[in-house]
Amino acid sequence: MDKKLIYDLNFRELAAQTAEWDEPSYRSEQLWEGLYTQLWDSPAAFSNLPKALRATLGDAFTFRHLTVNTRLQSSDGETTKVLFTLPDGNAIETVLMLYEQRRTLCISTQAGCALGCTFCATGQMGFRRNLTSGEIVEQVLFFARELAAADERVTNIVLMGMGEPFHNYEASLAAIDLLNAQPGFGMAARRFTISTVGLVPAIKRFTKENRQVGLAISLHATDDKLRASMLPINNRYPIAELIAACRDYVEATGRRITFEWALIQHVNDSAEQATQLADLLHGINCHVNVIPLNPTKGFDGEKSTRARVAGFRRVLTDRGISCTVRVRRGIDIDAGCGQLAERQAGQTAELPAL
Ligand code: SAH
Ligand code: SF4
Repeated sequence: MDKKLIYDLNFRELAAQTAEWDEPSYRSEQLWEGLYTQLWDSPAAFSNLPKALRATLGDAFTFRHLTVNTRLQSSDGETTKVLFTLPDGNAIETVLMLYEQRRTLCISTQAGCALGCTFCATGQMGFRRNLTSGEIVEQVLFFARELAAADERVTNIVLMGMGEPFHNYEASLAAIDLLNAQPGFGMAARRFTISTVGLVPAIKRFTKENRQVGLAISLHATDDKLRASMLPINNRYPIAELIAACRDYVEATGRRITFEWALIQHVNDSAEQATQLADLLHGINCHVNVIPLNPTKGFDGEKSTRARVAGFRRVLTDRGISCTVRVRRGIDIDAGCGQLAERQAGQTAELPAL
């Protein structure tokens, strides 16, 4: 039988396991501390545990589920992208971006994605499977270990890699909870951002849970016809419903929400569309991230020119909407999520319910 991935267990579950092995309860604390503070990645590293327990741990669990398939670094050295292979052969991507003092990690929540957004490499690949919480956590631990070797740490985590986090809600939030635990990895909730294509029931659930975790919505268009042509999920949850859920989120949590907008030349980058966006977002405590489209094989749109990007942004800021242009970092290494794994993609799997 395949060994279980140890990062799939939260503290309570790990404590239950050590209790089942008749170990004193402080053993679970030692284990937790070793895994998430020391970042140890094998039973052998736990020199503070009895040899027999280390052997039991090694028999029951794996500590390394992800193997590095490809590792790329952008020419400016500031973006590192790793394509990992999972034991079942599926591939996922994780990207580390250095920006001033920030060490931002962009992690995947699914292998592939079922939502089929036309311009997205992951969407073009189709859905393969959900990641487990441990597989989400291990992406973070991998980079945390590397950074720790240089006396650095991950400062921000965005769930903006492959997959739709709200289509794998339980595992995505379980991973955040685990990494948030103190003592342990101790990453503050506000340092996480979940990006969603706009699954309204999940946004409502997330609102109710009132977490400190940030929320970003992939909007990309203000009229339903255009949005549905790019993001098929819009047929299910149209813009008015989505924006209503976003307003409720902002009101209920008192938090600012982010909207993402990939600028596609002559598709959604006109001054008129920027004006419509400003009207749509009027009165919502929000921030807009615009990003020139990262071209993908399966989509023939082009990225907006610098002048059009600047023009779009100006309309928003003139109307009092805060807006930043995200620089496409690591473009020379296909650091648009999904682009590397896409090359390895095969068949699409059966879909879980949306
Ligand atoms: N599924 C989630 C999170 C992963 S995608 C979501 O859709 O929000 C992360 C972000 O990258 C989203 O805003 C998505 O719209 C954007 N994106 C996907 N493909 C892109 C591309 N080719 N160029 C620019 N942005 C892209
Ligand atoms: Fe999935 Fe997000 Fe890509 Fe859409 S943009 S296909 S939701 S990963």
